[in-house]
Amino acid sequence: MTAMISLNGVSYRYKDASRPALSDVTLTIARGNWLTVVGRNGSGKSTFGRLLNGLFLPTEGEVIVDGLLTSDEHQRWSIRQKVGIVFQNPDHQFVATTVRDDIAFGLENLGLDRAEMRTRIERYAQLIGLTSLLDEEIDHLSGGQKQRVAIAGVFAMEPDVIVFDEATSMLDPIGRKEVLQTMKRLHEIGCTIVSITHHMDEAFYGNRVVVFHDGKIIADRSPRDVFFDDALLFKAGLEEPFVVQMQKMLERRGISFTKRCVTEEELISELWRSFLAE
Ligand code: ADP
Ligand code: MG
Repeated sequence: MTAMISLNGVSYRYKDASRPALSDVTLTIARGNWLTVVGRNGSGKSTFGRLLNGLFLPTEGEVIVDGLLTSDEHQRWSIRQKVGIVFQNPDHQFVATTVRDDIAFGLENLGLDRAEMRTRIERYAQLIGLTSLLDEEIDHLSGGQKQRVAIAGVFAMEPDVIVFDEATSMLDPIGRKEVLQTMKRLHEIGCTIVSITHHMDEAFYGNRVVVFHDGKIIADRSPRDVFFDDALLFKAGLEEPFVVQMQKMLERRGISFTKRCVTEEELISELWRSFLAE
């Protein structure tokens, strides 16, 4: 496993706060991984996300991105290029009027020449399905489209990692699906994904779930292991994903399952198996 990001004994305390928002967090994120971060409001998820690209610097401990220490100010620029963040509210992320200009803005800071900028804008707009919207005004787009513009802006910088901090939470179901499909595509082409979310079903896109509680990591396991652990869910104030809720409800009604289902397909095939066995 090659470490993309490592946190060693990281704590973070906001100015004047009586207690740390994050305490003694140690974690390694492998290159190409899809990590889901969950936990109730105030548990430290956003603070964690902002530590990953040096937007925040640890009060204690260290964060290492691809071999670079985030606290080394000479590396700050390289680190910001390696780790991009997409925030909750797409409207707070734009600087230009049109889609094309907004993506271009980030690239100008990289010092690319015009031709290379144009190539990158076209390439990433196509990848994210925004080609037909490049000359649209951002104000005229739907929430899901806006969030995809924000993602294209981050992705055009060719980062290794993208942190999504509740990036789907302000979107309607269609917009959410669009953004999730985009995340999936980026992951398939090798991007490391850190997805902070309160939609538990999104955890099944990845293979690892980290649960925060009072600024600490209280579990770091596969989605299946997290969502079938009732005591953990209760402690961390997490809901079960829909499929898990269904399975538990059906079990209470006497239907037996041979495994823990995490997709609707698995649930349906288990129901068929149980039905045919009767
Ligand atoms: P989450 O994203 O899980 O909701 P946050 O990382 O935003 O959690 O917050 C973690 C803790 O830090 C909370 O107790 C919150 O109140 C506190 N906190 C967040 N932002 C600030 C801030 N700017 N100043 C002081 N305390 C903050
Ligand atoms: Mg947050």
